[in-house]
Amino acid sequence: MNKKLLSPLAKYAAIFSAFFILNVSADILNEDEKRHMASLKATALQSELSYQLVESLTTEVGHRLMGSEGDKKAIKWAVAKMNKLGFDKVWTEEVLGTFWQRGEVMAKIISPYPQQISAIALGGSISTQGDGLTANIAHFETFADLKAAPDNSLHGKIAFISYRMERHIDGEGYGPAVGARVGGAVVAAQKGASALIIRSVGTDNNRTAHTGIMRYKEGVAKVPAASIANPDADMLINQLNRGGDVSFFLKLIAHSDPKVIVKSANVIGEITGTEFPNEIVSIGAHLDSWDVGTGALDDGQGVGIMLAAAHHINQLPQKPKRTIRVILFAAEEVGLLGAKEYMKLHKDNMNNHVIGAEWDYGTGKIYKMTSGVGELALPAIKELSGYIQALGVELSLENNAKAQSDMSLLSAAGMPSMNFSPDALAYFDYHHTENDTLDKVSQKDIKQNTAVYTLFAYFAAQSGIDFRK
Ligand code: ZN
Ligand code: ZN
Repeated sequence: MNKKLLSPLAKYAAIFSAFFILNVSADILNEDEKRHMASLKATALQSELSYQLVESLTTEVGHRLMGSEGDKKAIKWAVAKMNKLGFDKVWTEEVLGTFWQRGEVMAKIISPYPQQISAIALGGSISTQGDGLTANIAHFETFADLKAAPDNSLHGKIAFISYRMERHIDGEGYGPAVGARVGGAVVAAQKGASALIIRSVGTDNNRTAHTGIMRYKEGVAKVPAASIANPDADMLINQLNRGGDVSFFLKLIAHSDPKVIVKSANVIGEITGTEFPNEIVSIGAHLDSWDVGTGALDDGQGVGIMLAAAHHINQLPQKPKRTIRVILFAAEEVGLLGAKEYMKLHKDNMNNHVIGAEWDYGTGKIYKMTSGVGELALPAIKELSGYIQALGVELSLENNAKAQSDMSLLSAAGMPSMNFSPDALAYFDYHHTENDTLDKVSQKDIKQNTAVYTLFAYFAAQSGIDFRK
């Protein structure tokens, strides 16, 4: 049609009817389904279930490092909870790995001013030899500075990286800080150092050091690696700033035998879809934790939220059309071993994974949601956002979500994804420390987090939207 021939009134009518049609087609859920969304929201906001699950996991199991007794107990715990909560199918998928066990650690400044240092071994570190080592500190403000040091320039020294993680609501300070923890020991060894210490990757000012995984590289000497508490890193710098040598003592004991293979498992439970049982909406968290604290925030909270979300949906008079799969991944902390195993087993079924989201950080309310879906699915995301907005969750204009932690591997294999961002301002005060305990879980905010994941999972499972397109 030639637009010039349209009268102003006809133009208005054409625009209005297009607008009207768009608006009608934008309502993906019918009135019944909208009522279910409202009732799910109300249930999740008043139910204590997600918190009770974290309380149960942290009280009855405690910490659960890959291959430990706690890990075995956690698998049994998760299977029993899924069955008790009425999941239609519950099973485990074996994950193999090695078991690293923490021993004693002792750190102190010998001179110029003797002081005790609060330290913790990084996960995977070897022990110091004999009765420990004493060496002068070679200080680097950043990991990049250590990398820039000439090879073999640090013989007889302990490399110390003092970079401090920044506090941000979305936890974005973690990325720039964590490289030194994971890769610092390899570079320190390449420069000839006999050990690595880093300032804790954490935002607190407590004398509590933060652990986390570190790596060695084949062909590069292994040196022991520890992190020290933030105030102790400051004090070490103050002694270094006086200009002379600072002599440091480190004794670190850890046990690990790479030849001994231990078993863990992903624990998976489903609410089977009524119309499209083979189409899977996956929601996940990791069941393992570090061996300090009780893994309440990381990732007990995620476990509680996922189990409660699926349970709330399962209580509806009619189950959703697609299957909701809760995946509690094994061995995330030691290198996403559970997620890698999941990918191996399910790589031929990735097309069935219609969308997914993980929960693996935060201490407060979810304030933002970001999609990672096909362009044609964006109106559906907008509608979903309409149901969640009143909980204080803003829809990000970006469409580049890659899913968190374990689930990022599924995303990388093409699964459409959602990221929900909880307030993480305080999260890295406790992350991977003795202080990651139940009291840090907000009984109020976990309900809001649960409501968001419940609404997302129900919407994605009931709407039938193709999120890939
Ligand atoms: Zn985690
Ligand atoms: Zn962690």
